[in-house]
Amino acid sequence: MTQQAAVKPAENGLAQAVAQILSSLGVAPHVYSSGERLVRSPLTGETIGRVKDTTPAEARAAIAEAHDAYLAWRAVPAPRRGELVRLLGDALRQDKEALGRLVTIEVGKIVSEGLGEVQEMIDICDFAVGLSRQLYGLTMGSERPDHRLMEQWHPIGPVGVISAFNFPVAVWSWNAALALVCGDSVIWKPSEKTPLTAIAVTALFERVAAKFDGAPKGLATLLIGGRDVGEILVDDARVPVVSATGSTAMGRIVGERVAKRFGRAILELGGNNASIVCPSADLDLALRAIAFGAMGTAGQRCTTLRRLIVHESVYDKLVPRLKQVYANVSVGNPIASDALVGPLIDEAAFAGMQKALAAARDIGATVHGGERHTAGHSASAYYVRPALVEAPEQTGPVVEETFAPILYVLKYSEFEEAIRLQNGVPQGLSSSIFTTDMREADRFLSATGSDCGIANINMGSSGAEIGGAFGGEKETGGGRESGSDAWKAYMRRMTSAVNYGRAMPLAQGVKFDID
Ligand code: NAD
Repeated sequence: MTQQAAVKPAENGLAQAVAQILSSLGVAPHVYSSGERLVRSPLTGETIGRVKDTTPAEARAAIAEAHDAYLAWRAVPAPRRGELVRLLGDALRQDKEALGRLVTIEVGKIVSEGLGEVQEMIDICDFAVGLSRQLYGLTMGSERPDHRLMEQWHPIGPVGVISAFNFPVAVWSWNAALALVCGDSVIWKPSEKTPLTAIAVTALFERVAAKFDGAPKGLATLLIGGRDVGEILVDDARVPVVSATGSTAMGRIVGERVAKRFGRAILELGGNNASIVCPSADLDLALRAIAFGAMGTAGQRCTTLRRLIVHESVYDKLVPRLKQVYANVSVGNPIASDALVGPLIDEAAFAGMQKALAAARDIGATVHGGERHTAGHSASAYYVRPALVEAPEQTGPVVEETFAPILYVLKYSEFEEAIRLQNGVPQGLSSSIFTTDMREADRFLSATGSDCGIANINMGSSGAEIGGAFGGEKETGGGRESGSDAWKAYMRRMTSAVNYGRAMPLAQGVKFDID
């Protein structure tokens, strides 16, 4: 798509652009233009749609239907289930431009990140198709003669997916592509801020499923609404797995409620990610990685770089350059310009950012940037210059996740101190180190290094690939999604022993002779 074409929707009005995209994806106008919930684009603050919330009765009926769908789907051979996901990936390839643009309009991501999010959906579909022939169990040597010991992985039931606004479609696909090949159905409650992209993806899935022989009705359903609708999913025992992505505050409630009914929660919560810059670091490379990590997606990624821990010997080489990058980075409407930093999602995000910056000043920090850009923007759009904050110590706002582009810079002198700072926050999602000293690099990846779920060398903290398991420790919730063996959380493990002999030996040498 050319730059010129990219400008058009802004000129014509975003609501019209959204209507065009949704109708090209087969969504009927009444679905996105009637209802009590207003959907706003952060690009301009204007209303781009109206949707109807799912009622509690409708939500319970959808769960019942998803349960029935699971009962049928679990009997379909896994490679055949993979075929449906392959077709889903094909449809996403076809509609990548339209869906990516919708992500940009609904969430405010720059165009390449909107497209990148859809690419991530395609990638996980490809992964899941291969996985559909690799749902391996183990066989173990039995201690009893003429016995076989083995495990199998079976479908578990409907998987509830609660997602955050900032990855409005990719998070669903990380869960859904795996759950579907695992033989589960999926019930999705997207963020109340991003229902349109969810409606578009569900329509796309339904189109694919309708043509697929053997896809039951209700295999992937959508519940629209806020926390109250999510809670229905959280509390329903017919949903054995709830994958919840969002704030730590949300996860604290969801985790407890799911545990109360002995369900399984996959929690993907907030991060407070750090990078360490060592004396031997390649500073040119580090600068580029830090810029994307901290300012990309306007600081609204769970893996956004929020803390930079710089060795005192390179502080004065790196930080002035960084200040320059922060002062010059282009901030603006990503479909009306080639800006690298789009808007914050809403007014509350802006208020949260300003509150954190005030708290930073209270602890004696020096704040560069962070001001609102109003010129040329509507009063209900929130564009900010990313903030670089030189912090005297790791306290107050520095140990919290503020979902906005704020990068706190801290100085260290000893390597151990850098590791302590890196690990000294309640969250444990992503981390990285810039060094060319292999001892430092390997120490960082060792058991006594970073305590995060993700640890990178000479890269930023954000921009994960789907091939690895994604998630983090501590207040990030401990869940894992996406690649590696994350699929196991979407299945139930069955351990089986088979006696192919004529005797009846007991394990551990126990005797129980009834003759
Ligand atoms: P949020 O917590 O406000 O909302 C997330 C989702 O949870 C929404 O769908 C919301 O309706 C739902 N929800 C909230 N309370 C609930 C409850 N009690 N019961 C059921 N559902 C409930 O988060 P947000 O503002 O949309 O997203 C930003 C947050 O998400 C950040 O903290 C970010 O780090 C985190 N996030 C984490 C990951 C990850 O993979 N670790 C990925 C993306 C975002």
